[in-house]
Amino acid sequence: MTKSGSRERNKISDEQINHEPLPVPTILVADDSPTALKMTSAVLSREGYHVIQVRDGEQAVIETFRQKPSAVVVDLKMPKKDGFEVCAEIKRNTSIYVPLLLLTAREDVESLVKGLDLGADDYIIKPFNEMEFIARIRVMLRLKRLNDELMTANRRLKYLSTHDELTDLYNHRYFIAIFDKLIRETMENETNLCLALFDIDHFKQVNDTYGHLEGDRVLKLIAQLLTDSFTSDTVIARYGGEEFVGLFPNRALSFVVEACQNVIDDCAKMIFVSEGKEHHLSMSAGISCTSVLNSYRANELIQSADKLLYQSKNSGRNKLTSI
Ligand code: GH3
Ligand code: MG
Ligand code: MG
Repeated sequence: MTKSGSRERNKISDEQINHEPLPVPTILVADDSPTALKMTSAVLSREGYHVIQVRDGEQAVIETFRQKPSAVVVDLKMPKKDGFEVCAEIKRNTSIYVPLLLLTAREDVESLVKGLDLGADDYIIKPFNEMEFIARIRVMLRLKRLNDELMTANRRLKYLSTHDELTDLYNHRYFIAIFDKLIRETMENETNLCLALFDIDHFKQVNDTYGHLEGDRVLKLIAQLLTDSFTSDTVIARYGGEEFVGLFPNRALSFVVEACQNVIDDCAKMIFVSEGKEHHLSMSAGISCTSVLNSYRANELIQSADKLLYQSKNSGRNKLTSI
């Protein structure tokens, strides 16, 4: 089993949310007429865009999925696949969003409506005015940018719905959801589930001595220690404040006790440097387990671990007590 890297795997970096200098947009142009293809591409290149040229609808679809351009300009009448099919296929795949500009020599309203209904974002009639064409391309790129920003914001929101922003560990809400699921699985499969509650000892002193921001930094370091210390099947979450919880599915109590004792020992050995001063911290834990408790009730497992944690606190801290 590998050490857990879930924090890194799930993390969305700040750079992804912040506005970075935009790269030069790539635009795919699909047209079966070499002259028209050359002309349209030249207009786009002059504006400073990268251009991908393809000669038929099949290539348009393949290269759109492969190279993920920022916009696609597609001729309506093409061999292999016409512009309608290209629009439909590209828009059917919801994993990417590419705005489509339909190029048509026809002025018949019916085919334009059909193209737009199939997912084209706009159209322009050939021969077109260059300025108008470029203005429409800018609209396509704006659509693309807005959509990308929305997707990034959605990913971030999704991440924050399951993760604690400070420590990047799972948050309390996600912990409860996964705990319920694991309890059900444990009961159905007649396996075992251990739960460890950790609480940093005298953490208030860190805040009182070095300030809340430094307290935050220390919390992150301890969260990192927890993440690095357990195997990837362990679910580690921030239970609240300076309390953390670990769920150990299908592990013997003795294994969990040893793993948690190692973390408590490692924490006590860590040297924290705040305001240039070295200091130490310890953690206490309470560990409970379905097989010993003889119960598959989530509440009872937590209450039992909480009582055991309390015993660790009352008997000197920097230790764990197991059921
Ligand atoms: P004990 O050994 O009994 O657990 O003592 P303690 O000081 O750790 O416990 P207490 O419950 O008295 O205080 C917990 C402190 O943790 C107080 C609170 O301000 C601090 N805390 C909780 N969440 C955060 C946080 O997100 N950031 C910082 N910096 N401090 C936090
Ligand atoms: Mg506490
Ligand atoms: Mg505490």
